[in-house]
Amino acid sequence: MTFCSLDSDSSNISEGTILSDEEIVNESTSSTSDNEQNSTTSSLDNREIKYFIAESVSNEHQEMLKEWVAISEELYFTQPNAVIENLYPIYLIQLDKNNPESALALEPVFCEFLEDEHKKLFIRDGYDNSRCGDNEDSREEYERNGLFVEPNGGVAGSAISSIPQRDGYSLFISRTHNLPEHASSMGYVTLHEMFHIFQTSHYSTDSYDGQRMLNGRFSGDNPEDDVPWWNEGAAVYFSYIDYARTINDMSWFKEQMYCTILCEKNRYGNKSRLEIFKESGLKLNNITFNENPEPVDKQIAYEIGAWFIAYLVNDHGEDKILDIYSLYEEFGFEKSFEMQFGKDYRTYLEEFYEFLDLSEDKMMAILLSD
Ligand SMILES: [Zn+2]
Repeated sequence: MTFCSLDSDSSNISEGTILSDEEIVNESTSSTSDNEQNSTTSSLDNREIKYFIAESVSNEHQEMLKEWVAISEELYFTQPNAVIENLYPIYLIQLDKNNPESALALEPVFCEFLEDEHKKLFIRDGYDNSRCGDNEDSREEYERNGLFVEPNGGVAGSAISSIPQRDGYSLFISRTHNLPEHASSMGYVTLHEMFHIFQTSHYSTDSYDGQRMLNGRFSGDNPEDDVPWWNEGAAVYFSYIDYARTINDMSWFKEQMYCTILCEKNRYGNKSRLEIFKESGLKLNNITFNENPEPVDKQIAYEIGAWFIAYLVNDHGEDKILDIYSLYEEFGFEKSFEMQFGKDYRTYLEEFYEFLDLSEDKMMAILLSD
């Protein structure tokens, strides 16, 4: 479980790492309590978002979270093909990364709420599927991954941990960022996770594997590998560009896109992600979530994946990305890709690798300025 746990504000914005929305999990158990004071609800036209906030989270942080959630709703959930029934309700858990005790205290509060709201007799429900559930799978999952606190005692990372079509809700776990210095990651990580809720809303299947099949997670040369480049690349791209648009500073977007693959990073032995990627000889769609040769990690696929999205946007515009999710169920990922972009994704990736050999100036020139 070390593969996904870089903190998004561990050192500076360009080291920012978005965490593991991919581990959608079947969850498990916990105790109950009567404590409800940490939850608040905001809803508009059945667009319910219920917040569960660890008690040590500052008011400032709560306010920022809610602002970024509202911005994300406006940006993504108003897209013409988003499926509203699959977007809401959202249960948003705000944890304090420096305070595992307050995260742990929230578990029984949330679990009791889930049991009250989602427990149904005789069928496997959104409570049973959660890590609160009183069944063997849930308990195992809880032991393996915890709920708001990981088994190693650390506070859980920002992630989406639900399948709304199966569970009846979206569970968004959000971990704090150091304010004010990492206000940017507060913004773009929230956009990123909300973008995943938007992506997932388009599917009708309630199978995790079925959803991953649709969204390109099995598009490596080994069809059994779970690969992030496509689905995560889009979430990273939109989180960066929409953060910059919202703060009205497109230079932030360019710096972020530049540094995320071109700046030297300590964690890669003072090489850039692009250097590591090229030296590895791996194809982008063969980088997996957690089984890569050192020093390649999934974050390289996330960030170079974001550049691939920028490359497609330069040719076709952003709407072709935002629209593709509504095609998946009928056509599948591969065919949908060809329909939107005119070539199969492997051919497009080969062209993209040539693009990555251009000068930095030429690469940067494709990025949108507004
Ligand atoms: Zn993600």
